[in-house]
Amino acid sequence: MAEDRNAPWRDELRKNIKAKDRTSTARVHMNELAPDYRIKNKEEVNQGLTAEQAIKEAQRCIDCANPSCVEGCPVSIDIPGFIKNIEIGNFLEAAKVLKKTSALPAVCGRVCPQEIQCEAKCIHVKMGKEAVAIGHLERFAADYERESGKMDVPECAPANGTKIGVIGGGPAGLSCALDLAKLGYDVTVFEALHEVGGVLKYGIPEFRLPNVIVDVEVEVLRKMGVKFITDCLVGKTVTLEDLQAEGFKCFFVGSGAGLPRFMNIDGENLINILSSNEYLTRVNLMDAANPESDTPVFFGKNVAIIGGGNTAMDSVRTAKRLGAKRSMIVYRRSEEEMPARIEEVKHAKEEGIEFMTLHNPIEYLGNEKGRVTQMRLQKMTLGEPDESGRRSPVEIPGAIETIDVDMVIVAIGVSPNPIVPSSIPGLEITKWQTIVVNDEMQSSIPVVFAGGDIVRGGATVILAMGDGRKAAEGIDAFIKNQK
Ligand code: FAD
Ligand code: SF4
Repeated sequence: MAEDRNAPWRDELRKNIKAKDRTSTARVHMNELAPDYRIKNKEEVNQGLTAEQAIKEAQRCIDCANPSCVEGCPVSIDIPGFIKNIEIGNFLEAAKVLKKTSALPAVCGRVCPQEIQCEAKCIHVKMGKEAVAIGHLERFAADYERESGKMDVPECAPANGTKIGVIGGGPAGLSCALDLAKLGYDVTVFEALHEVGGVLKYGIPEFRLPNVIVDVEVEVLRKMGVKFITDCLVGKTVTLEDLQAEGFKCFFVGSGAGLPRFMNIDGENLINILSSNEYLTRVNLMDAANPESDTPVFFGKNVAIIGGGNTAMDSVRTAKRLGAKRSMIVYRRSEEEMPARIEEVKHAKEEGIEFMTLHNPIEYLGNEKGRVTQMRLQKMTLGEPDESGRRSPVEIPGAIETIDVDMVIVAIGVSPNPIVPSSIPGLEITKWQTIVVNDEMQSSIPVVFAGGDIVRGGATVILAMGDGRKAAEGIDAFIKNQK
């Protein structure tokens, strides 16, 4: 990277506009659909930057000698390297720089929590200014490449004939498959669902991440020779032993954390109380928002979503789009402690979502048909910070409120699905059912590597991708060592 920074064109750019001028312009605003329009459809809310906006924003970056933004990126993207290419209008090269370290830049540009990662570390913030809009620029470059029809298909080393099985087609599995294909391996991705993409497809709604973005990336992998077998639940449809008998030499497990958690409170089994996973998967992948489909979801009018993370925001905004009059977040801490991205909270508020913070459900009440009709909420206050560093919610004695609801979506977190780990004899797992791995992402079974949410519990797309890449390196070293 240092070399690139010393390239004459970069030097020239730095001379053309002084650092003080670069830091004194205001940050670009993302173009967005108007809230009253967007709540009636599933169109993507963020519309991206124009080329002119992107270049102007790229000029804000001072091309730091020691770019602190890169330290904040879990996969160490050469951030000034891609931004400076945008500044000179070399958008395809910018996309190329991104792809050196990120398998899915169009996805990360949309869903990464930049405000706590790269942008939080941008020098502008240290100077009391707004960070360079790194995420918006990442999205711009990746979208430009896709829309130009000149999508770069990475070069692959000559085929080495070694078969590797990737279990799970989420960001961890896809990025591992990409790097292994580049190294010449014969890679097959086994996916339990009928579509590839993991949470990017079944969890995150169209209005935040259109499916076509993920499909295009998967297509690149296909062009590189990666095979996909869908509707295949590894551990049930096939086992690792079966696959070894078919010649697979090594495996990457990226089966995610798709097992919903519930609160186990009275009435939680009533009809129309469901997990966010079920709700979002049915709407996003099974056409359940279409009343004419075989299995439509219930279209709640008073919908409460329990939780304060991205999953809760995606669910509450989906319920709004499906016609809810009251679509509410019920969260036991205050807004400050909410794990959801700031942008999601902002968008939700603009769309008329109600925030019942410092409230915790303690019981659901139903009618004679077994459908939920009300929920009892315990009001909370904030106490001392807990082990997560956030102030813990403390009950206010006797402060209980009852509200009407006809649908409740529980989004309080997820656990790893035990099907894959329990089907591999001797595999070491933690008490949270996550797979134990070493620094190379290798598990206690030498031919099994793992990464993403199955190792971390619920984490982020970029961390899952980083794990997938690291595991690909580990697998390559392991295979070469064996040979
Ligand atoms: P997953 O994406 O879960 O993929 C695992 C895949 O494995 C799935 O396709 C699953 O069907 C498949 N699988 C499971 N078991 C088997 C089996 N036995 N055989 C074959 N296949 C199997 N992170 C962010 O960074 N930003 C966000 O804005 C964000 N929003 C989110 C919104 C929602 C609704 C959710 C649920 C999560 C969100 N996250 C977000 C978290 C992020 O999506 C995950 O951390 C990430 O997807 C984990 O990637 P993964 O590849 O490990 O697992
Ligand atoms: Fe550019 Fe900010 Fe990174 Fe410096 S820290 S290189 S200004 S994005």
